[in-house]
Amino acid sequence: MLQINLDKAIQQLKKKNAKKILVQLPEGLKTRIEEIALDLEKNGFELIIIMDPCFGACDIKIEEAKKMNCDALLHIGHNEFIETDFPVVYAPLEYKLKRIDNFLKKIVEYLKENNIRKIGFVTTIQYINYLKEIKEKLKSKGIIVTSDTGKKTIEGQVLGCNYSSVPNEKNILFFGDGLFHPLGIHFATQKEVIIANPLTMKISLLGKEKNDFLRKRILLIERAKEANNYGILVSTKIGQNKIVLAKKIKKQLEEKGKKARIFLMDYINEEKLLGAKVEAYISTACPRLAIDDYNSYKKPIINAFEVKYLLGENYDNYKLDSFY
Ligand code: SF4
Repeated sequence: MLQINLDKAIQQLKKKNAKKILVQLPEGLKTRIEEIALDLEKNGFELIIIMDPCFGACDIKIEEAKKMNCDALLHIGHNEFIETDFPVVYAPLEYKLKRIDNFLKKIVEYLKENNIRKIGFVTTIQYINYLKEIKEKLKSKGIIVTSDTGKKTIEGQVLGCNYSSVPNEKNILFFGDGLFHPLGIHFATQKEVIIANPLTMKISLLGKEKNDFLRKRILLIERAKEANNYGILVSTKIGQNKIVLAKKIKKQLEEKGKKARIFLMDYINEEKLLGAKVEAYISTACPRLAIDDYNSYKKPIINAFEVKYLLGENYDNYKLDSFY
């Protein structure tokens, strides 16, 4: 079950002497707005709740908080990785897992069966509260576990745009759910990834999914290659804005005789692009957009780091570049 530690956030807001708060929360938590708002109001805060979609701590609505004369922004769901000139308090979502002991036993068995005695450990913010316990358990069973801090990430944490904390070990244990991060880890570092999913209690080696992913990316890039007019998508979100990169890509494409326009928006989606006479999109924003959501675009959409393949580099060393 996902939990928010609002108490800690409330203490921090009080310390900052904040009275009027702009509250920002992820899509999945909107059904709990009332409960969250009541809790905050009970503590004397005046609230404005921002309803624009928010998928990460790259999206910190500071300008909106300033415009609304708020004293602070409360960002629910993620932890800090962007420096700001305005008071921001974070209340990350954390999983409270049942049967963690059984699952840790399974992980140990899996590693021993596969003769893995040394492993790098990473997870996402929702499971980071288990880092210490997992490391201690594995260590007590004779398995060496390393975890590192990354550029702007805390120990053991990976983000879809940031794999800088992945330890320099041959095998990486990803503790979490979904395939996006394991694929990201593999294609950013070329390491073998073992997925330990505490929600399904399954442990598996990332295998066939790597080829499927690569095949899909190559198909998209090849389709995008046929275009003559490109829309380069830039987000105004504070942690996603890559206008310098967008300008560089525009120049590179023009040098190859292609045309390109830079399209700026906050939340990027296909609807906003309807009517633009371009044949393919290049996203400089969150990498998940062109990877998780490419199916919701009628035209091919690729990531900025994939432009080099579009311009001729071969796919042998396909690498997913991190933002950081
Ligand atoms: S850019 Fe994407 S992956 Fe990175 S923090 Fe933002 S939403 Fe998450």
